[in-house]
Amino acid sequence: MSEKDPYIKDRPGVCTVCGKVAFFDEFGNGVCPHCGWEMERDEEEMGRLQGISYPMLVPVWRAREQYRQGKPFKATFEDFVNGLYFYSEMSFVYKGILYCVMFSKGKIYMGHDEDCQFYDTREEFTEKANIGGRLLKDIWDEIENPSYLFD
Ligand SMILES: [Zn+2]
Repeated sequence: MSEKDPYIKDRPGVCTVCGKVAFFDEFGNGVCPHCGWEMERDEEEMGRLQGISYPMLVPVWRAREQYRQGKPFKATFEDFVNGLYFYSEMSFVYKGILYCVMFSKGKIYMGHDEDCQFYDTREEFTEKANIGGRLLKDIWDEIENPSYLFD
């Protein structure tokens, strides 16, 4: 293997969230062994423009906050809605049930087999989306794995 071998993958760098040494592949991606952040080359710009990151959804600036507070990385409801407008199809788990959120016929659909809801606007979804009458924004702490669909 020569020094120019394009298949040499890992390059040392600094994790954008915790600031410790991590390794990046040739695309600028990698998983930090210290904090678990999945680094992505365009995460700063994506966070600024879209309010999210890929693949972890949480924008990098919020991930730094959560790391400082010793919390696990988790998309907030706001991050989740930003993700919906970027990916068009999202999902989360509540009490073991997978819910899908996506655009359908110009509306925002949320639901699973036995529960279908439709909302006209981002504001209406943010304010009124609920599970059994409990507002999504109020029970977000109980929501698991908010992510793009089929993650
Ligand atoms: Zn890190």
